[in-house]
Order: sequence, then structure tokens, then C-alpha cells
Amino acid sequence: MTTSSTPAEARAGAILTIDLDAVAANYRLLSERVAPAECAAVLKADAYGLGMVQVAPALSAAGARTFFVAHLEEGITLRALLPEATIGILNGLMPGCAADYAQHRLAPVLNHAGAIAEWTAFCRQQQKRLPAFVHIDTGMNRLGLGPAEVAALIADPSPLGDLELLGYLSHLATADEVDSPLPGVQRDRFRSALDRLPPARASLANSSGIFRGAQFHFDLARPGCALYGINPTPETGNPMARTVRLDARVLQVRHIDSTGTVGYGATHPVSPGTRIATIAVGYADGYLRSLSGAGSVWFGEQEAPVIGRVSMDLITVDITRLPDGAVHPGTLAEVIGPHRTPDQVASEAGTIGYEILTSLGRRYARRHVGGPQ
Ligand SMILES: *Cc1c(COP(=O)(O)O)cnc(C)c1O
Repeated sequence: MTTSSTPAEARAGAILTIDLDAVAANYRLLSERVAPAECAAVLKADAYGLGMVQVAPALSAAGARTFFVAHLEEGITLRALLPEATIGILNGLMPGCAADYAQHRLAPVLNHAGAIAEWTAFCRQQQKRLPAFVHIDTGMNRLGLGPAEVAALIADPSPLGDLELLGYLSHLATADEVDSPLPGVQRDRFRSALDRLPPARASLANSSGIFRGAQFHFDLARPGCALYGINPTPETGNPMARTVRLDARVLQVRHIDSTGTVGYGATHPVSPGTRIATIAVGYADGYLRSLSGAGSVWFGEQEAPVIGRVSMDLITVDITRLPDGAVHPGTLAEVIGPHRTPDQVASEAGTIGYEILTSLGRRYARRHVGGPQ
């Protein structure tokens, strides 16, 4: 850490720094990549853990006009931040809540025939064509109209006349696997449905889908993870800017003087001469327990491996190879940063960068830098 810390940062066990200019730069890169298609921004799960309250205005200032969140409640929060934006709710229409979407001008993504029926009934009752997206499932078998529902809608598209159709969307299952044939199959299924449905805008690509080529861009792209610095092209280098840095504080340095073990489960043997730093981050902060004996942190250019189990509030790292006195109570260790991206931490933890970001702890002192003035 170079800049001086606030009292909250001095008290905190760890400091999370979020670079809003990097998020905005990532948006602009994706936006140029999909032009002339529009680039939306996916802000679900508190902007993948980075903080929707700060990230949404930064993306809006960078030119984003269309946003997606998962939950109705997330949409209500976002509407207060961005009065003019188009906001789609990916989890769809919660039964009995149509009036809430209308009140906050939120567009449900209609995921099944029952949701289309409920939304159009509400539109007729209000005597207004209210905005919605329609989700066509082309291979996820998760959300969206299945083949029989699509066929029924093609046979009788009249319900779509009762609502304001903002577009059709579909979602790719394997966009991040460069050799997978499924994205092409899904794109062809999507096209074939679009050809037979009333015309409207179309949206298929998530972050990785954007990098599969222009045939995946349609009218509107929906990146999430790439905005936040996750590599959308795992087969090659990461074109996105880093957006987060996590520095955690050393609480104690221990010089081992007799043979023993470290931590819960006594999983890691230690011998005299070992030096251990105990650091204030644990699984309750999103430092996943699967990083036990697998992760590492950095002091400047020097790596210190996690030894023993990750506990709720603490990790223990081996600093034997660092110069004596280099680390002391109060020293900050880089947990996420230039030496360890969220993707690298994820691979050590046996998961994906998305889970690392969306698990970022609530106990961190959060510092958002950059962004619109
Ligand atoms: C989460 C999500 C996205 C964004 O996906 P990324 O892989 O994070 O870019 C796009 N569309 C839908 C339907 C999603 O659920």
C-alpha cells in the first residue's frame, strides 16, 4: 500500500481496493469489440462483489445504457442509482410481483410461458405495453423457453403484442471453452428461433461469447466477469485490466523453536527455524477453505505459501525464506493483486474467478478509487 490509510483502514484486518477506472476501461474495450452492437453491463451479485453502488455510475459514465441484475431487489437498488437506464431482471418475473417491476420501470426477463402469461395479463390490466425481454433456452436447460414453448410462441406470437418487447436473449453454456462446438450450435438454434418470431433485438454473448467472434454479437452483448477483470479467454492472455487488490494485515510473527504442527487438524508439520506469519483473513472473508495448504500471499516480490488450514478469520503463511524482520505485526500482505489475480487464486482453490470475486468479504475496509468525479 502506498497511499496513507484512513482510520477505518488502519483498524481493518484487510483492505480491498477497487479501481473504477479499470472497470470503465474494460467496458470501453468490450464496447469497441462488439460495435456496432450495443454493450450492456451485468451487475448481479453486487457487481460481482465489487460494489454496485460505486460500479454502476462508473459504467454509466463510460457509456453503458442497459444493465442486467439477477434479482428484483437488485433492480430496485439499481433504479435508484440510474434513473434513465434500461434494467433487465435475469431471474425473471417473481410471481405476484408484476406491480413492483412496473413501479420501478424494471424489465423482467420472461423465462417461461407462465411468466409471459402473467406479464401480458398485467399489461392488459394496466392498459400499457410494459417492457420485458424474452429468454429462449438454446442449450442450458436452466432458464428460458424450452423448444416446445418456443414452438408454441411461433405458432401464436400474439401475447408478445401486449408487451413492449425489448429483445430476445439466450445464454451460452461453454463460451469460455475455445474448442467447444456447443456455442455454434446454440447460436444456430437462436437464429432459427429469431427467424420465425416477431422481429426484435437479440442478445446472446456473455463476456467469453464476445471473444468467440462477431457471429455471436447480435444486437446487444451482456458481459459481466470481463468488466471486473476475469479472463474471458482462458486459452490465452487476459485482455482485461485488473480491478481489485486485496491487502491483509499480519497480526503476529511466530518463530518456531520446537517440532510441531500449525493450525486446525494439525495438518502441516513445522520444525525449529520455521517462521510463520498469521494474517487477518479467513474463509468468513471469502478466502476459501480450499486454499488450505494451496494458496500463497506476497510481501513485495516475495511469495509466502499458506501452510495449514484456512480458519474462519486467519491464515498462516510460511515466511522462513524472507529476511528476518521483513514482516511484523501490521505489515500488509498482497492476497489479490499483481502477483495473484482472482483467476490464479481461483485455480489454487479449485474454483473460478467469479466465485473469488463474489465471495469478497464484508469485513474488508473497501476503498473505491477512480470513477466519475
Ligand atoms: C451472469 C450472466 C451473464 C454475464 O456472464 P459473464 O460470463 O459474467 O460475462 C450474461 N447473461 C446471463 C443470462 C447471465 O446469467
